[in-house]
Amino acid sequence: MRRQKTFVETKPTLYLVATPIGHLDDISKRALDTLKQAQVIYAEDTRTSAKLLKHYAIDTPLKSFHKFNETARLEGILNDLKHSASVCLISDAGSPLISDPGENLIKAIKSKGYHISAIPGPTALIPAVSLSEIATHPFLFYGFLPQKNTARTKVLKTLASQSFTLIFYEAPHRLHATLKNMYEVFGARKLTIARELTKMYEEIIETSLDAYDKIPILKGEIVLIIEGAQALDNLSQEDMIEHVKLLIEDGLSEMDAIKKVAKLRSLKKNVVYMAYQRYKQNNQENNQE
Ligand code: SAM
Repeated sequence: MRRQKTFVETKPTLYLVATPIGHLDDISKRALDTLKQAQVIYAEDTRTSAKLLKHYAIDTPLKSFHKFNETARLEGILNDLKHSASVCLISDAGSPLISDPGENLIKAIKSKGYHISAIPGPTALIPAVSLSEIATHPFLFYGFLPQKNTARTKVLKTLASQSFTLIFYEAPHRLHATLKNMYEVFGARKLTIARELTKMYEEIIETSLDAYDKIPILKGEIVLIIEGAQALDNLSQEDMIEHVKLLIEDGLSEMDAIKKVAKLRSLKKNVVYMAYQRYKQNNQENNQE
């Protein structure tokens, strides 16, 4: 068990400081004070962070910390903490460690008995889900999906029966491929695209995954919010599968049976399809044992 009484015991501390996701005013007074008073600030891209620090006349020395030098930097950061009261970690935008590097650093600092303290503030997923018409509770934040189609499909399939609202980060050049992929796995669920939050070209698009091919080319930074799977209790799942099986026995093709059950029960086709595929897979596995 590790217990940290952040403000009762004084120890050298690494501060995880949240910085704006676009609008430079979105930074707390406490974040600015902490950045000013630190002995050193580690930043993902020192050129990007230098602009923020210049805007607020902060002249604390900046050093780089990114995914390519994360391991090489560990010793240096631990050494800085040995000789300083406070060191800060910031990312290019938003909250450090949220789809940004730092996990191993946190582990190393904890193992040395130093403190870690978060100065909370902006993060892109929160305004995106607040602005969406899709349920804000409960939600599951995934971050970036794998870039390759096969790996991405595999992850999406593991999320297909999840009833929580799903939140993803995505790069604009992969947007259409990802949405197509999501439509293939999730079906026509509600979709919100939150783009360039807090910036001049902020845009919120509320649509559905079946309109993926009508979405224009979008630039900038993007958060995707997807409606969760429709929840069905076990009893109605079994009943629904029995219904599909009966229609197949009556001569309908699997797909037509699924479509008919979905229509008769006012369910999305994808919900019936996924439940039936899961049933078939379980059956196959049981027969192999
Ligand atoms: N640490 C950041 C946070 O707390 O949200 C996330 C860093 S991650 C490397 C960058 C991704 O966050 C972008 O590709 C985009 O998906 C999302 N993002 C960051 N700023 C955004 C903004 N202003 N509007 C929409 N999405 C944003």
